[in-house]
This record gives sequence, structure tokens and C-alpha cells, in this order.
Amino acid sequence: MRKGRRSGVYTIVAVHSTTLGPSLGGCRMWRYASSADAARDALRLSRAMTFKAAAAGLNLGGGKAVISLPPGRPPTGKARRAVLEDFGDTVGILEGAYYTAEDVGTSSRDMTVISDQTKYVTGLPRGRGGSGDPSPFTAIGVQAAMRASAQRVFGSTSLKGRSVAVIGAGRVGECLARLLSREGAKLVLADIDESKKALAKELKGARWTDPTTALLSEVDIVAPCALGGMVNGHSVQRLRCAIVCGSANNQLAHDGLAEDLAERGSLYAPDFIANAVGLINVATELDPEGYDPAHTKRRALGIEETMDHIYDEAEHAGTTPLATAYALARRRLAEAGAELR
Ligand code: NAD
Repeated sequence: MRKGRRSGVYTIVAVHSTTLGPSLGGCRMWRYASSADAARDALRLSRAMTFKAAAAGLNLGGGKAVISLPPGRPPTGKARRAVLEDFGDTVGILEGAYYTAEDVGTSSRDMTVISDQTKYVTGLPRGRGGSGDPSPFTAIGVQAAMRASAQRVFGSTSLKGRSVAVIGAGRVGECLARLLSREGAKLVLADIDESKKALAKELKGARWTDPTTALLSEVDIVAPCALGGMVNGHSVQRLRCAIVCGSANNQLAHDGLAEDLAERGSLYAPDFIANAVGLINVATELDPEGYDPAHTKRRALGIEETMDHIYDEAEHAGTTPLATAYALARRRLAEAGAELR
């Protein structure tokens, strides 16, 4: 954790593991109740990145960054540049143990600014030789995970006519909503940002509501696409959906909730499998062969098979899909000599 010399803002990088390679994870720019809360979020997110990379077969470790904004509107212009440059310094002193990328509150344009301070940056715009915004690919991966989940619960991979609550109509949420609407799903859309309401007006078969109502509505699928912890000890008792499958990292406030969901008969698509394509997309920037969007798209569609495999194994072992996903990642980490909890 460093207090920026230009901006006075805390920039935080958490490196959870470098067993499989340098850690890679996005930089979240958000307002937290305290800088300690921001650090806790970074730590928890970095752990999820370790398992995400391992389960996806990537030679990357787990890391994540948080820029802990003071109260008020997110900075723009010169003030934003100062924050991003301070963050670039924090990334730079880790000398390659951590590579950053975009996340909630940051964009590929921000990555360009950070790259003026440090070379350990991915997700630069296409024009700058990077892979650009990963969100459209992440959304394809989440849709593929939904197909595998629908097959398990309803006996068909088709999402036509299925009701889906997309909570968080940001970059991934919007792309996902568009894909689902095109497939003929009935959508409930929600966001704390009321300006996103326009999307519900635009998309066929979509209606708008508030995030809590969306989460607790009687739908086939709830897709958390905002921040983490939407499924917690309180909300889990009130969910009325058959499937939880979205893009958000750390959708469960803690891992034990996977058991609660299973007991309640809701299928949980482990988040770090469903949303892995964002990481896969930026990871290919580090490949010696360079970035190839066609490769990412293939991997995104392949999430259906991976999820299917996880559900099969979970059923066979009598455990939750989350436990199975962890086991898959831990096997790979153990082969590389790390025993991670
Ligand atoms: P984003 O910042 O573009 O969108 C997030 C949206 O969530 C915003 O519109 C915001 O207003 C809304 N939001 C915040 N708190 C909310 C709440 N309590 N209820 C409802 N809406 C709320 O972010 P994104 O890139 O779309 O990412 C969304 C989630 O998916 C994040 O958890 C991110 O870590 C995860 N994720 C994203 C990618 C990617 O490719 N972008 C990849 C993997 C995981």
C-alpha cells in the first residue's frame, strides 16, 4: 500500500501467488468505506486470481490492485492522471511480480497512462498493440457458462425464453445483456447507476428494476455482474433463482455459501471459471506469438465444456461445483509445488 506522492491517494497491489508465473489481475478504482476495506478487497480478489489462472491453465499467478478513491466523484483530467501515475509507480516497484490490467473503474485508456510509468501493463488499446477491452469476450464466456448451467438444470443449453436478471449493466453486463436478448432471453436489468436504464428500453424483452429486487426476483438465472459479495448470508436465504452465473469476481461473500446454495437447490457456476476469459484475453498479450482475438473467442466458447466438466465431476464426487473448481486449480498448483488454501 502506498500513498501517492502526486495524488495523496492510496494505491494497493496484492500479490497472492507467483508459483505459476507473474501475477496478473485488474486494477479496481473504487470508493471504499476505509483504505483497510480497500486492502481487504485487493487481498481477496488476488486470491481468486490465483485460482482463476491455475484453473484456466495459464502460466500466471494471482494478483490484483485497488485504487482507493476518496469520497466524491471519480477523478478526471489531470487529477486522474496523477492517481494513475502514482499507481504506475506502485506497480513498477514490484519489478514484474505483478502485471496490471483494467477492472471496475478503469479502462484501456487508463492503462495507456499507467504504461508511461511502468512496462508491467496489459489491456492496452488495440491501437497500442494491446488486446483492448476484454469485456465482450468475458460476456461470451459467461453466456457459455450459462448454457452449461441451463443444460444441467433444465435439460437444454438454449437460453431462449429463459429469464435472466443481470445485475450491474457495466461493460460486461451490457455485452451479456445484448447477447442474451439476441438469443431471446427475458431480461431483468439493474444497476445503481440509473443512466443504465436506457439499455432496458433499448433491448427487446428487457425490463428495469433496482439491484435488490433483481437479485431476489423469481428468475431462471441471476447474473451478478457488479462488485463482489452479492450472495451473502442474508440474501442467500431469499434467492428464488435456479442458477447463479455471472461475471463478478467473488460473487459469494465467502466460500461456505456454495454449500448453502446447493442445499437450496440453486446451481452456482463458480465465478472464477465463468469469468475467466477476461484474464485469458489479456494473458495472450504476453504470449510470444502475440495477441489473437480468434484464440480468445475459441477459449470463451470453450467455457461451456469446462463448466460441464466441473458439474460432472462435482456430481460424481458429491461435492459443490465450487469445491470442484478449487480442486482443479489446486491440482495444477500442486504440480508446480504450491499447496494453497
Ligand atoms: P464496470 O465498472 O464496467 O461495470 C460495473 C457496473 O456495476 C457499473 O455499471 C456500476 O454502476 C454497477 N454497480 C456497482 N455496484 C453495484 C451494485 N451494488 N448493484 C448494481 N450495480 C452496481 O465493470 P465490468 O468490467 O463490467 O466488471 C463487472 C464485474 O465483472 C466486476 O466484478 C469485474 O471484476 C468482473 N470481471 C470483469 C471482466 C471484464 O472483462 N471486464 C473480467 C472478469 C471479471
